[in-house]
Amino acid sequence: MADHDLRNPPTSTRRQFLEYAGAGLAAATLSRSFTAWAQTATTDPVAQMRATAATAKLSTLKLTDSLSVISGAGGNIAVLTGPDGKVLVDTSFATAAPQLKAALGALGNDPLRLVVNTHWHFDHTDGNPWMRHTGALILAHENTRLRLSQVHDMPDLHMHFDPSPADALPQQTFTDQATLYFNGETLALRYYPPAHTDSDILIHFTQANVIHAGDILFNGRYPLIDYTTRGNIDGMIAAANRTLSLCDAQTRIIPGHGPMADRPMLEQYRDMLVTVRERVAKLKQSGKTLEESIAGKPTRDLDEKWGKGSIGSDFFVKLVYTTL
Ligand SMILES: [Zn+2]
Repeated sequence: MADHDLRNPPTSTRRQFLEYAGAGLAAATLSRSFTAWAQTATTDPVAQMRATAATAKLSTLKLTDSLSVISGAGGNIAVLTGPDGKVLVDTSFATAAPQLKAALGALGNDPLRLVVNTHWHFDHTDGNPWMRHTGALILAHENTRLRLSQVHDMPDLHMHFDPSPADALPQQTFTDQATLYFNGETLALRYYPPAHTDSDILIHFTQANVIHAGDILFNGRYPLIDYTTRGNIDGMIAAANRTLSLCDAQTRIIPGHGPMADRPMLEQYRDMLVTVRERVAKLKQSGKTLEESIAGKPTRDLDEKWGKGSIGSDFFVKLVYTTL
């Protein structure tokens, strides 16, 4: 089955969100999760993603003596360690807590002190309550708290979210920027105007020269653009450019999903976004419907490189078309 066949949306979109959900997982796990989904087609996709995360295997990549990335369930997690306590960027699924606790323990005994959410999506915030209960302060953009407080439906992904419980909400928020000093590191938090959602921030570990870009970057893949909370293609391009403006040749970039990136990889990704935007805009301006635009396969020559990840090419064209 083509993973970008929108003639059969119930199946293809379900597969897409599962792959989205498991973007950090090994292909074998993805395939298993899809099989499990197919066998239980009435399962709530949100519950299914949490169930998949419960058995996900996590891996830790050390970037510096004090900064690491934990991957394998939900969005990539950055961990800064040191005498001030651990600082985490994003919290994965609640169900991945046992593996995540073990992975954090392997990085030392410093208590978990601070959690930063890159945006509101549940594969980045679902672990907030357990982390808060261990004593961590949760910090995010004000729209992350707002969005987590609301009901949301994401029809493409067949997902429904009730308002999150109080202990899942960030205790502290900011609007444009915040700067934190922990463990000898300076963390520059900067808001991206609506891009992937309207709650996205970057976290720049300035001494380490590492940027966590959240879901602004799906490295090597077409990204999800959540238009239900004001995400849009022009914002994605602007966010990629904003991130590039902070990068030098040595900067390492932690994407929301996918492997570590660097400046050339982010430039290629930005160029892909610009190309697809131009092509889809031309189709839309010429009066083509969404269906006609998808049928025109405007990303055909890009799909080999970008279309094998969590978001299939037809779905990505839909996201671009819808948000232009
Ligand atoms: Zn997201």
